[in-house]
Amino acid sequence: MTKPSIFGLTIEQLTAWLVEHGQKKFRATQVWDWLYKKRVINFSDMVNINKDCRQLLEAHFSIHTLTEAVKQESKDGTIKFLFKLQDGNLIETVLMRHHYGLSVCVTTQVGCNIGCTFCASGILRKNRDLTGAEIVEQIMNVQKHLDEVGQGERVSHIVIMGIGEPFDNFTNMMTFLRVVNDQKGLSIGARHITVSTSGLAHKIYEFADENLQVNLAISLHAPNDELRTQIMKINRAFPLEKLMQAVDYYLKKTNRRITFEYILLKDVNDHKEEALQLAKLLGSIRHLAYVNLIPYNPVNEHIQYERSEQEAIQAFYETLKGQGINCGVRLEHGTDIDAACGQLRSKQIKKERVRKVKRADTALA
Ligand code: SAH
Ligand code: SF4
Repeated sequence: MTKPSIFGLTIEQLTAWLVEHGQKKFRATQVWDWLYKKRVINFSDMVNINKDCRQLLEAHFSIHTLTEAVKQESKDGTIKFLFKLQDGNLIETVLMRHHYGLSVCVTTQVGCNIGCTFCASGILRKNRDLTGAEIVEQIMNVQKHLDEVGQGERVSHIVIMGIGEPFDNFTNMMTFLRVVNDQKGLSIGARHITVSTSGLAHKIYEFADENLQVNLAISLHAPNDELRTQIMKINRAFPLEKLMQAVDYYLKKTNRRITFEYILLKDVNDHKEEALQLAKLLGSIRHLAYVNLIPYNPVNEHIQYERSEQEAIQAFYETLKGQGINCGVRLEHGTDIDAACGQLRSKQIKKERVRKVKRADTALA
């Protein structure tokens, strides 16, 4: 039987586990120091912890369960990692360089069931949720890469915007947030973390009730139900009225600004009319709303969509600004390396399928 990864435990859970197993409370802090500050990869390296305790941990937990399958580095310093999970599934993680620090984009599910019509991740349906540990390990692996490079760089920001719908894996996402945010560990500030959802309204209420300082982003992509349902079928279950009610609740409860993501698709949702509708939709909450306009990253499987022209992007931006809506155009990272969400993974899966077919052919020959 495979042992669970110790990265899936909050410090409170580890403390309780150690006490239950006859160990001193303070061991948990020591173990966390080894894991998150010194970043050792074997229990045997935790030299200030007695042998009994180390053996106990070793018998019940593993440390790293992910292995690096592919690493692509872009000219702008973006690095895309493809990790293999213990069950053979592949996931993507991206490291991006910004003027304010280093951010990592993490995956929360193997595939995604939301099935947005523009997204590479949605093509391959959800295989399973990631465990909290598997999400934490993505950060640990990227940090390990930085440690090996030896420039003393630290992951300072996190965006939960990789493959999957984080609010469809809420409990494990919360474990992840608690672990990376804890001051005894990586201590990544909540204000430096952003979680993006396609708009699971009922979970937005739950997230608001968690009272965290974590930033919320909502993938909107259209300002009316007809268009939004066409682009994202999740809009059938959570139409704009329901979504905006959840948004109001979140804003009242937290008073924190929400980012609305809007992918610009040529001749689909990039006209002046949609910009005006969007401004109207967000008008009453404009003091707490920011619109992130995202140039579409073409995905081979979705040939019906094209990236909006530069002039259309600019015009959309100007219209929103003119209506008093805070907005910006997202800078792109790693455009030379399968940058769109889920692209590297779907390519690699195709490659492996071709290899398998070839192997089967050879076996038959
Ligand atoms: N499932 C969540 C988080 C992951 S997707 C969500 O949908 O919000 C993260 C972001 O990547 C979303 O805003 C999504 O719209 C965007 N994205 C997906 N495919 C894209 C593409 N081909 N080009 C540009 N952005 C894309
Ligand atoms: Fe899933 Fe987000 Fe992609 Fe939609 S955009 S299919 S919700 S990962």
